[in-house]
Order: sequence, then C-alpha cells, then structure tokens
Amino acid sequence: MKHLSDPVTVLPKVGPKRAETLASLGIHTVYDLLSYYPFRYEDMQAKELAEIGDQEKVMLQGIVVSPAVLSRYGYKKNRLNFRMKIEDAVINVSFFNQPFLKEKIVMDEPIAIFGKWDAVRKSLTGIRIVNPTGENGEFKPVYHVNKSIRQATLVSLIHIAIQEYAECIKEILPPFLVKKYGLMSRKEAVIAMHEPVTLTQFEQAKQRITYEEFFIFEMRMKGIQHTIKQDLPGEAIMYNNQALKQFIQTLPFDLTDAQKKVTNAICRDLRMPHPMNRLLQGDVGSGKTVVAALAMFAVATAGIQSALMVPTEILAEQHYRSLQDLFAKTPYQVALLTGSTKTKERQMIYEGLEAGTIHMVVGTHALIQESVNFHHLGFIVIDEQHRFGVKQRQALREKGHAVDVLAMTATPIPRTLAITAYGEMDVSIIDEMPKGRKPIETKWVRRKQFEQVLDWADRHLQKGEQMYIICPLIEESEAIDAKNAEAVFEEVTHHYKGRFEVGLMHGKLPNEEKETLMGRFERNECQIMVSTTVIEVGVNVPNATVMVIMDAERFGLAQLHQLRGRVGRGVLQSYCILVSDPKNQVGEERMKIMTETNDGFVLSQKDLEMRGPGEFFGHRQSGVPQFKVGDMVNDHLILEAAVADASEMWQTSWYKDPENQGLVRILKDNNQRYFD
Ligand code: ADP
Ligand code: MG
Repeated sequence: MKHLSDPVTVLPKVGPKRAETLASLGIHTVYDLLSYYPFRYEDMQAKELAEIGDQEKVMLQGIVVSPAVLSRYGYKKNRLNFRMKIEDAVINVSFFNQPFLKEKIVMDEPIAIFGKWDAVRKSLTGIRIVNPTGENGEFKPVYHVNKSIRQATLVSLIHIAIQEYAECIKEILPPFLVKKYGLMSRKEAVIAMHEPVTLTQFEQAKQRITYEEFFIFEMRMKGIQHTIKQDLPGEAIMYNNQALKQFIQTLPFDLTDAQKKVTNAICRDLRMPHPMNRLLQGDVGSGKTVVAALAMFAVATAGIQSALMVPTEILAEQHYRSLQDLFAKTPYQVALLTGSTKTKERQMIYEGLEAGTIHMVVGTHALIQESVNFHHLGFIVIDEQHRFGVKQRQALREKGHAVDVLAMTATPIPRTLAITAYGEMDVSIIDEMPKGRKPIETKWVRRKQFEQVLDWADRHLQKGEQMYIICPLIEESEAIDAKNAEAVFEEVTHHYKGRFEVGLMHGKLPNEEKETLMGRFERNECQIMVSTTVIEVGVNVPNATVMVIMDAERFGLAQLHQLRGRVGRGVLQSYCILVSDPKNQVGEERMKIMTETNDGFVLSQKDLEMRGPGEFFGHRQSGVPQFKVGDMVNDHLILEAAVADASEMWQTSWYKDPENQGLVRILKDNNQRYFD
C-alpha cells in the first residue's frame, strides 16, 4: 500500500544518487517532497506595457501579426523572430536556439509568451511559450535548490509525486473546522501550492496550509500543557501562608497591584498537585525579581528547595546579593554557584544542596552540572529565559521531580510570538511599574555630538549620579570588541580626567575583575561604566541615571530597550542618549521610535515587524518555531484563530473521535506521550 511516509526512492526517476541530493534539501519521504513548497512564484500575469520595467521578466499576451522567421548565425546558433500585437502596440519577439517553436507561432492566432522585456527596443526575448489558463495567467513555482539539483528536476519530481500519491493526501483537520472556515481540502491545497491554476486558487491553498500548520503546532503545544496538568503527578507545595504574609510586610515597599496578582497566581500553582509551567513577562524594572523571591520564600517554608538560574555571572552575583539582603532575617540559607565558584566552596555548596541545608541557590549554567544534586528541589526560576536553550531548561527541571517552573523574561514578547514560542505555558504579565518611577527621557544625537553629551552629563555626575556608556559588539571576536570599548574608554577618561572615575567592562575580563568592577560601581567608587553589552540583562544600580548607547543603530529595538532599562530604577529622573548615525531610513525610524515610547510591548511589536521572528530575540535557541508557509506576523489573524480552536479541542476528548484519528497520528509523530 502506498503511504505518504514512503521513501522518495519509490518514485520513478529517483535512485540512490538522487535520493541523496533530495536528502540534502531535507526531503526524505514522499510527504517531504509534497510539502516542499515553493518560496515564491514567477508571477506571469499580463501587465500594461508601460508598467513593465526594463529587463523585467513578464508574461505578455497578444496576437501574432507576422510569420515567424528563423535565421541562423554563428556556429549552430539560431534565432526565431516574429511580431506580436498587444492592444495598439506591435512588439518584436525573438527566441534564441528554440527553432522547434516555429510551428507554434501561427498568424492571427493569440499567443502568450514568458520572457524578458527590453523597454528601449520595445522587444521581448522569449524564454518560453506559455498557456495562460484561467483568469490570472500562470504561476510558475520557484523552489529553493542547491548545486546538485535543478529547478526543472524538482518541478518534475514533484509533479510525479502528485500524480502517484495525491490519493494518499487525506484530510486531517476536524471536519467542523474545515466547514467553519470554508477551507480547501488538504489534497487540493497541496496540489495547488505547487501547480496553481488561478491566483484565487493559490490564495485559498496558502490559507489552508497556513491554518493547518498553525493548528497542528498549537495542538502540540496545548497537548504538552494538557499532559503536564492532567497526567504528570506533581507535588502540592503546602507553604506557610501566614509566614509569607508576614514576610511581605517586611519589604521596604508596597507591592504593586500587578505584583500581587502575579504572586497570587504563582502561589495558587504551587499548592496545586500538578507542576506549574508559567511564564512571567514584565518590562525591565517592573519588579519581577521580588515576585520570584517571594515564591522562593514560600517554597522554603514548606521545607523544599528552590533554584534561580540566570544567564550571566554578573546577574547571578546581583540576584544573590539581593536575596541575601532580603532573607537576612529569615532562617533560610542562600548560595551562589557559578563557573568561577572556587573548588572548595563549590564542594561545600554541593554538600549543602544534597543535605538540604541550603534552601535556595542562585547560579548560572553551573547549576545544571552533573555533580549538582538536590535534597528536595521543588521550584525553579529561570530568569531571562529566552537566553537558555530548551535542553538547558530541561536539564534544570530534571534536578527535581515534576518541579514547578517559573520562567521570567524582561523582553516583552508580542502576543503572536508569545503564543507560539511559549504556547505550552501559562502566561502572567506585570503591566505596571512601581510607584514614583519617572519615565526615562530618551534623546537621539549624532556621533559628532558625543563630546557635548559628556559635557551635559557632567551636571548629573556632579550631583553624585552615575552613567553607563555601552559600546556594541562589532565583531564576533571579543578582542576587537574590547578594543572598540577601549577607545571610548580612553576618550571618556580623558574628558573627565581627575574629576570622575571611569571603569571599563568587557567580556574578556576575568570574572573576578568583572565582579570587583561591578562592586565598585555599585558603591559609587566609580561613576562611569564603559561597557560592552555584558551588562545588558538585569543589572540593577538605582543610582545610575544616564545611559549612553554608542552606535545605537547596531542594536535591535528590544535590546535597546533592555539597555535603557538599566537606568530609571530609582526615584531619580533618568536619561537615555542614543549616539547614532544610522545608514538608512529604517535606522532613523528605529531611533525615532525609541525616543517616542517607553513601552516595551510597543517596541517589541515594532521590532518583530521590522526584523521578523527569527531575528527578534537575536538568539538561535529562542524556540521560535519555523513554519513552512505561515507567517506569524502577517498571518496573525489565522494564528489566533488556530490557537482558539486548538484550545477548544483540548477541552474535549477529541482524540477518541474516529473522525480525528488522522490528526492523532500526525501529532503522535512528534510526541507519543499525549495519547499513551
Ligand atoms: P525586573 O527584574 O523586573 O527588571 P527588579 O525586580 O530588578 O525588576 O526591580 C527593579 C527595582 O525595583 C529593584 O530595585 C526593586 O527592589 C524595586 N522594586 C520592586 N518592586 C517594587 C515596588 N513594588 N515598589 C518599589 N520598588 C520596587
Ligand atoms: Mg530582572
């Protein structure tokens, strides 16, 4: 029996050699081949002659008004010439080395030719004669290929696959959804993606495939969520609510309403017998860390351990110190574990974690080392979670048994991305800043005004405030980046000579020096910190009020916003100065947007629109799914519909319905767990 999962070698014309070539395109099965969709189509719609650009490839339709004349020239070369009338114009058409076309060119008959237009000579160099069926002419699919396979070969292989296997393309969407949106059938859509006859048909096919991709993806995500909630036995953490309330009273500030709401949601999850899987989003400075600390405190009252994993050592240091301050008057022990923890201390921490005498641990990737064992780990917090890969997050989870997970991110994620990249999580948002914060004033200046910026900043430094100056990573090489920051460091040091202390921070510094430097900055022993982006995430020095970002056009909007969030963390008015000479209009646009809004969600949406989802996080491990046809930004309405439909499906036992067995099989491919 034929099956879509058959290897491509079952097809005529596909031997081992060709199979290897196809494999290099990621095509192994007949289904892979059928779903290897074109990345664009040569649009062969007829156009007005005046609209066609010089050397543009177009399709032209007209009437043959002269006989075709074949002339030979050179060695085995020939040319076929005739004239064609298009409305009121008569143009020359030539074909090179295709003498056999002569008989297809018949006086007074209509003809359609695909070719390259020469606007000066008013002539068309024909590439082929086409058959313009349907209302909109013909679309030629164009596929991504590589050196070892040609377009034409792929087109013909796909055509063969369609002929031999179209019958196997069965509907997998629940019939009520197909009906609800009037979707094209799956079989029809797959064929039309490769061989569309009309524009309308192509658009319907694309819509159908897009919906299917989104829907299947969301069914998977919701399936994971479902499994975690229903099937995995978790642990109900029965913390001491009284102690938690008392502890909250000791905080030096009142929680914002948003913080209270989120803390409640987290505490509710902790008490539930299934594992929490929650994403906490909140703009920089919105006070996520306190919320995480409260949850860690609650967990500790139940005699259970928690771990806070962060992406950088600087951040780990800082969280460690604030947790130590926060928990100073409690009986709970906090430890710091990073790559630079000394062997002896490391050994003691390992022992403490294993014995349960350490209640909370803050650390970097060092936490997921094999030798780290916990007495009873029940809760983990992952800060700046998009900085970690799926595997790393999983590795930390596995240090406990069905642990509760709180992931945090200060990169506001546009809704469309959040529901796709983190669709398996519950999402909480802190959408309110602590009282008394003044919005940061953002200015954009040119590089030649940098001196003036330093003069202006003098006033703030004199008042005892502090300043960051950030230099972008220009090369992948730390050495060159350090040099770039070094040049700025020299310039700034010279400017403030004898008046203010300047520090230089970059990735090449030994960790110990980084710590010392950060410590000096925190104690205001050093007023100005020139740094590469190593300080980007989470660093908290409320006395710093000026953030200068050099060559700001090199950063994404989300990242600029992160950097800007390093200031404005106290009660003082803060400023962000973007020093930038953008090279184009988009760059200028981006600088302007930064000066106009402080809202991270607005910026992230803009960033997503300008750079696309892949670039958005600036990180390969972001977990943003790749869709073949669907576009999360442009097709967000379809995406949202698919999300809603998938949620509804999971409210029911849809997988028991005989009608849905095709869908069950597709989902099972990736993860057996949901159904077994
Ligand atoms: P985030 O991690 O969300 O960027 P932090 O948790 O680091 O933010 O908080 C930023 C600063 O605001 C910290 O100094 C913190 O102590 C302070 N803070 C947090 N919550 C409040 C609040 N409700 N009122 C006043 N200050 C707060
Ligand atoms: Mg933070």
